[in-house]
Amino acid sequence: MTASRDVVVIGGGHNGLVAAAYLARSGLSTLVCERRGVVGGAAVSEQPFGPDYTVTSLSYVVSLLPPDLIRDLRLASHGYHVFPQGPYFAPRADGRYLSLPADPAARRAQIAKFSDQDAAAYDRYQAHLAGIGAILGPLLEEIPPRLGSRRPLDLWRQGLLLRHLRKLDERGAVDVTRLLTGSIADLVERYFCSDAMRGLMSVSGVIGTWAGPRRSTRPPWSRPRTRRSRSCGCSTRTRCRPISSRTSAAGRPAAAP
Ligand SMILES: Cc1cc2nc3c(=O)[nH]c(=O)nc-3n(C[C@H](O)[C@H](O)[C@H](O)COP(=O)(O)OP(=O)(O)OC[C@H]3O[C@@H](n4cnc5c(N)ncnc54)[C@H](O)[C@@H]3O)c2cc1C
Repeated sequence: MTASRDVVVIGGGHNGLVAAAYLARSGLSTLVCERRGVVGGAAVSEQPFGPDYTVTSLSYVVSLLPPDLIRDLRLASHGYHVFPQGPYFAPRADGRYLSLPADPAARRAQIAKFSDQDAAAYDRYQAHLAGIGAILGPLLEEIPPRLGSRRPLDLWRQGLLLRHLRKLDERGAVDVTRLLTGSIADLVERYFCSDAMRGLMSVSGVIGTWAGPRRSTRPPWSRPRTRRSRSCGCSTRTRCRPISSRTSAAGRPAAAP
């Protein structure tokens, strides 16, 4: 089947679907080509245990999905719904457990079962991360500037980044560099002394790194985006032959042989 398209997005993971939805929304005829039989990539929901249970086979926590994207693509009306994650609960071989409930007093009591010092350090740890998050968080929604480029638009974008990073003092620059280049073990060991807290606080630092705590460093949330990109007029095609990175004489990606 051949048809002329303005844009072909290779790969129907959630990033491909979001890009396709925005492109289609702007009026471009858009096709998503996905090599698997299902779109969603690592954020896919499947039914490996039969039709009664739909589970997120890989990605399971919505961490960095910007609210304006949810609004722009009207994901809620396409079935997007976030189930709040419950508090951490870490059972131990000796029969004890560490849990981190949302209530500050209950949480402090939980941590104090293992270390009073750690119970006192928890709020400082959260404040430390929140401070870095306040600086870096807004950058997630920015288009990264082309560093080194002298084109006026790129220079302007570099200037915006510098203006933003001026909020970092010397101490802050060290903290950000440490967070982005060090291991989670380096960070948690500065705050906590019990192995219970060190272990639990390391979890978020190793997700996606394919590494342990000493090495440097999704709810069914792809389906609403699939629906939304379709409702924007973009089509998806699954079980596509993988596209190779070879380019044709015309400079376009060439289909795999
Ligand atoms: C086990 C695991 C757990 C995770 N947990 C979380 C989590 O809880 N929270 C979170 O925010 N993130 C999590 N992530 C990370 C998150 O899933 C990824 O960042 C996200 O899926 C990346 O989306 P993507 O669209 O860029 O790529 P992908 O999801 O990888 O999708 C790429 C798609 O392109 C297709 N494709 C690739 N090459 C071709 C080709 N040549 N032709 C046609 N199709 C092609 C693939 O089949 C795939 O469907 C997790 C990742 C993994 C692996």
